[in-house]
Amino acid sequence: MRWVLLARLGGAAILAGVHAFWAGGIPEYAPFTTWGLGVYLAATVLLVPVALRLKDRGSVPFWTAVTVADGIALGILTGGLGGLEDPFFAWYVGDAAVLAMVMRRRQSWVLTGLLVVSYALAHLIGHQVTEPLVHVFLVFKVMTLMLVGGAVGITMGAQEERRVALESLQAETMELYAKLERSVSELRAVTEITEIIHSTLDVETVGPVLLEILHKVIDVPASCIYVIDKTKHETIFSASRGVPKESVRGLSGLEITGAIAPSASDNAFGCIELIDHPETLVVFCADTEAIDQLSPDDRIVLQTVASELVVAVENSRLYKLTKRLAITDELTDLYNYRYLQQRLDEEIGRADRYDKRLSLLMLDIDDFKRVNDSHGHRVGDGVLAEVGHVLKTTVREVDVVARYGGEEFSVVLPETDASGAFIVAEKIREAISLTRFKDADGERRIHVTVSIGLASYPVHAHDKESLLRAADDAVYRAKETGKNRVRAPRLRLGRVQVESTEQEVAE
Ligand code: GH3
Ligand code: MG
Ligand code: MG
Repeated sequence: MRWVLLARLGGAAILAGVHAFWAGGIPEYAPFTTWGLGVYLAATVLLVPVALRLKDRGSVPFWTAVTVADGIALGILTGGLGGLEDPFFAWYVGDAAVLAMVMRRRQSWVLTGLLVVSYALAHLIGHQVTEPLVHVFLVFKVMTLMLVGGAVGITMGAQEERRVALESLQAETMELYAKLERSVSELRAVTEITEIIHSTLDVETVGPVLLEILHKVIDVPASCIYVIDKTKHETIFSASRGVPKESVRGLSGLEITGAIAPSASDNAFGCIELIDHPETLVVFCADTEAIDQLSPDDRIVLQTVASELVVAVENSRLYKLTKRLAITDELTDLYNYRYLQQRLDEEIGRADRYDKRLSLLMLDIDDFKRVNDSHGHRVGDGVLAEVGHVLKTTVREVDVVARYGGEEFSVVLPETDASGAFIVAEKIREAISLTRFKDADGERRIHVTVSIGLASYPVHAHDKESLLRAADDAVYRAKETGKNRVRAPRLRLGRVQVESTEQEVAE
C-alpha cells in the first residue's frame, strides 16, 4: 500500500500547485481549486492511517471511500475549471486503471461507474453546452474511461487467473513432491529395518532400533509391537519404545485377542493387527489417537515391517532350536558329549586364567543291563531320562550336566575343589539311590544306583584328557570296590604318596 500513499502525496502536491497557479491567476477558479484540493487532502489524510494498516491490495470499503472522495474532488475541479478540465480527465483515467488493478473485476467496474458518473455530471455542470459535438466528445470520454477500466480489469483478471492456476499447480507439485519424499523415506526405513532384522539371528536385540526407525516415518511417539504364536498362546517377540514398563506388561501378547487391544493404563492404548496368519499374529499398539491417525501408507509400512519381522522371528527360533539340538541329548534333554568337551575346554581355560579349580564327576549306572533285561529297553530309556532329571535338579544352575554316552553321565562343577565335588557326588548318589523309577506299568518300582568317579583340576589332572581319564579310572575303582559309591583318583599330581580324596574328606 506504500505506493498508493506515495501516489496520493504526489497527487496532493500537483493539486496544490494547480491551486496556487489558478487561484493566483484567475480568482474565480480559486473556490473550486480550494474545495477540490481540500476534499482530496482530507480524503488522503483520513485514508493514510487506514491504508497503513491494510495488507495486500486493500479492502472494498477502502477503495469505495477513495473513489467517492476522488470522484467528489475531481468532479469539483472538472466542473469548476470548465474548459481546463482535461488534466483531471487524465486523472480519472488513472484512477480507473488503478481500481481495475487492485479490485476484483465486478467491484472495479462498479467503482469505475462511480467515476464515470462523477465525470459526466461534472462535465455537464461545467460546460454550457451549445454544440452537440461536445456531447459526442463527452460520450467518447466516458467510453474511454470505461474502456480503460474494463481493459485493465480484464488483463488483470486474466493475469490473476494465470497466477491462481500457477499457484494451484505449484501446490499440487509440492504435495506430490512431499508424497514422493515421504514414500522414499518410508522405503528407506523399510529397507533399513529389513537389513537390521535380517542381519542377526538374535532378533530380540533389534526391537528398540526397529521401533526407533518406525517412529521416524510414522510419527507415533510411543509404541509396542508383538509377534504372537497363536498355537501356543505365547508372545515370541516383543519390543516397545517410549511405553511405561507397566503398560507393556499389561499388554502382554496373551491378552491381545482380535483387533481390539486392552486398555493398558489410564492412557487409552489401542492395537491393530498387522498380520493374522493361522499360526502367527502380529500386533502394533500405540496411543489410540495415534492409531486412528495412521494413514493407509503408514499401515502398509507397518505391515511390510511386520511380515519381515515374522520371517526373522521364525529364522531366529529355528536357529536357536538347531543350536540347542546340536548340543542336547535327545533322550535325556541334557547336554551331549560334544558340548561337554567344549565346556571342559572353556572351564579349564578359565580355571587357568583365574587360578581357580574345577571338578568333574563321571557316573555309570550300576547293573543297568539288568534293568533292560528285566523291563525292556523302553523302560530303560525312561530310567535314563529320569536319572538325567534327578541329576539336573540336584546340582547347581552353573554346573554342566551331560550324557557322556549309554548309561554314563558327567557333571562339570566349575570353581569346585575335590572335597566340594565329593559332597555333590554323594548328594547325587544318595538322590538316585532313594528314587524309585517307573516300570512298564508306570509304577515306581525300579531301583538303581550309580558309581561315581570324581577328578579335580589341577589337583588330579593337567589337561582335559587326563581329567576325563582320571574320573573314568575313579569310576572303575568305584565299581571294583562294590558299586553305589564315590571314588577319587588315588594319586595327586606332583606328590609321591597321597591318600584318596574320600579319605581326606572323611578326615
Ligand atoms: P555295570 O556298569 O554296573 O558294570 O553294569 P552294566 O550292566 O551297567 O554294564 P555296562 O555299563 O557295561 O553296560 C551298559 C548297558 O547299558 C548296556 C546297555 O544295555 C545299556 N544301555 C546303554 N545305553 C543305553 C540306552 O540308550 N538305552 C537303554 N535302554 N540302555 C542302554
Ligand atoms: Mg557303562
Ligand atoms: Mg553300567
